[in-house]
Amino acid sequence: MLFLPSPQSRPKGKRALMKVLVFNCGSSSIKFKLFQMPEELVLAEGGIQRVGSTDALASVKTDKGEQEINQAIEDYPAGFAVIKSMLLDPDKGALVSLDEVNACGHRVVHGGEAFGGSMPVDAELEQGIEAVFELAPLHNPPNLTGIREAKHMFGDIPQIACFDTAFHHSIPETAYRYALPESFYKEHHIRRYGFHGMSHQFVARRTAEMLGKHKYDVNLITCHLGNGSSIAAIKDGHSVDTSMGLTPLEGLVMGSRSGDLDPGIIFYLHRKGYSTEDLDTLLNKKSGLLGLSGTSNDVRDLESKAEAGDQRAELALDIFAYRIKKYIGSYLAVLNRVDAIIFTGGIGENDSAMRARILAEMDQLGIIVDHQKNADHVGIAGEIQTADSKIKIFVVPTNEELAIARDTYAMTNNN
Ligand code: ADP
Repeated sequence: MLFLPSPQSRPKGKRALMKVLVFNCGSSSIKFKLFQMPEELVLAEGGIQRVGSTDALASVKTDKGEQEINQAIEDYPAGFAVIKSMLLDPDKGALVSLDEVNACGHRVVHGGEAFGGSMPVDAELEQGIEAVFELAPLHNPPNLTGIREAKHMFGDIPQIACFDTAFHHSIPETAYRYALPESFYKEHHIRRYGFHGMSHQFVARRTAEMLGKHKYDVNLITCHLGNGSSIAAIKDGHSVDTSMGLTPLEGLVMGSRSGDLDPGIIFYLHRKGYSTEDLDTLLNKKSGLLGLSGTSNDVRDLESKAEAGDQRAELALDIFAYRIKKYIGSYLAVLNRVDAIIFTGGIGENDSAMRARILAEMDQLGIIVDHQKNADHVGIAGEIQTADSKIKIFVVPTNEELAIARDTYAMTNNN
């Protein structure tokens, strides 16, 4: 396999202008964003929802306007053909020719143990993605299909795979092993992998910049709170623990995922007649905020319901916040010295009430929220702690597509 040095270790020089197209391909959706690098300008942004249906919706936004196409898109090749036509649209497209695209970056959810950084796609890498299909059956197959379609569409330009698991490769064995017999790790690869790595890394690097410190000179707790949520302990700029495990089900309470629970619950329910599929659906799709509240997986809905007196909504929000507080406490113990706690993701960036709920009564640990600063930081980066808070608290909007574009640029720019 061709190995390029990591973006960080490349010598800096004159930097070439490039157009980088970033893809995030899911089981029924394709999202893309076209960047002009190194300026990091977004030239086009769009996607297709409901790929595989007769009622798919494709859309794209450029500085010339918006396009929307509602039609049958039966599969990925058909989806990529629609993306091509939208990008090349003479009135509202962002490109005159596909040849203008210099490289594609792809989000790949699971890199298993093989990939500790973003990598150029070659046959061996494609095999590596396939090798962990079983660990991410909903994500890795469409991620790989997206890579293959992009290769087909753009011909001989670099394709770079950026893994959600890669940033967590630095987690030590003490933290990544489960207390199962060794053979389950050696034969079945059962270990903590962690996810949302592009986001945790992006906000960690951004926070180091805001602190005026080197990226490897910060100890941080990063909270990525969205529909899927995870938290990471970052020591000297490297991930040393994270809440998601073998799969994205472990850890925090999420929109519809349970997060941590006693594995005994699964046997108990299985003996009561729940099948493996029933349990999978229960824990991934019917639990979390949705299951607890009985009404919604969206914290905005739950906050208005709680305000109106809905006690189940209030309890769901409390349990969500409590789990995060517990993890922050455990990562304080893991890290010993913490420079900052960072909030990102749809909830972390925008929901000041939830941030206050999570960090309430932690003053003895040196964590004190300034409520005015907290309220002022909705969707914008900045510090939200009081002057006497020992640990800083940051809101940092994440940008996973930009993180992928940066890695893709760094790995393909030969200067
Ligand atoms: P995903 O994990 O799907 O990428 P996001 O990071 O986009 O999710 O987060 C989606 C969640 O963020 C929504 O379900 C909602 O609960 C929350 N959210 C988004 N915007 C706001 C807002 N302005 N205030 C509070 N919560 C918000």
